[in-house]
Amino acid sequence: SYNLTGKTAFVTGGSRGIGASIVKRLVKEGAAVAFTYANSTEKATELVKMIEAEGGRALAIQANSENADSVKSAVAEAINTFGHLNILVNNAGILDVKPYDQFTMEEFDRTVAVNIRAVFAAIQAAGPQMQSGDRIITIGSVNADASGFPGMSLYSMSKAAVAAMTRGLARDLAPQGVTVNNIQPGPVDTDMNPAEGSMASILTNMIALGRYGTANDIASLVSFLSSPESGYITGASLDINGGFMI
Ligand code: NDP
Repeated sequence: SYNLTGKTAFVTGGSRGIGASIVKRLVKEGAAVAFTYANSTEKATELVKMIEAEGGRALAIQANSENADSVKSAVAEAINTFGHLNILVNNAGILDVKPYDQFTMEEFDRTVAVNIRAVFAAIQAAGPQMQSGDRIITIGSVNADASGFPGMSLYSMSKAAVAAMTRGLARDLAPQGVTVNNIQPGPVDTDMNPAEGSMASILTNMIALGRYGTANDIASLVSFLSSPESGYITGASLDINGGFMI
């Protein structure tokens, strides 16, 4: 557990899955957390209610990551509400799997918009007001380094892009004392990749620890990277995959 009392955070895609666990974990460590969602209004509202009932502070903002301007507006709203953002977690992402010759160019643009463009937009909006000790974290994927299966061309491309963007931005933000890192999970049990899904037994056999990751496993690493304990890590892409495809 890491002490984030007095810190503020902004998490994209916090209504479900890994993002919701990150929101809960950062709140538990003492941070006030704003998060975005696209469609799950009910889940987002419930999460805020649950956090407030336990004495925490949270703010849900509807902002579709397909639109960079709405991501920037959401960051501005969070800054307005909290006064300052210490921690930015780019978590929202989509997985579009298809044979390469069946993707439309609209689908190509959508993966780029949500998985890459929105990440850059949020960092542009939050970065300039960040101060020494503040943190930028993006959720990439093991698929940046290994696709493993057919159909992963666009998703793998997008996650490799955020890994490289992380290195570039780590240089840009270092003079400000802000670290920029990328987390690369293996299979994690969420709606995107259910541990009971059609791919699950194949994937589980490829994981040394013999189980899917949980959203809480990933939230633990986010919590560490958000804390002062991680101060000498920047520009890194950190694998967290239970020994997947090793
Ligand atoms: P889920 O599909 O379970 O949840 C996605 C979350 O992101 C939801 O809160 C959703 O909001 C939000 N979101 C999706 N699209 C948009 C959008 N256009 N605008 C705003 N919010 C959006 O995914 P996971 O929790 O599994 O994945 C989270 C991140 O982790 C992603 O970046 C994914 O690529 C990455 N990852 C996941 C792995 C896995 O095995 N699950 C493995 C490696 C990486 P709403 O509810 O409103 O739709």
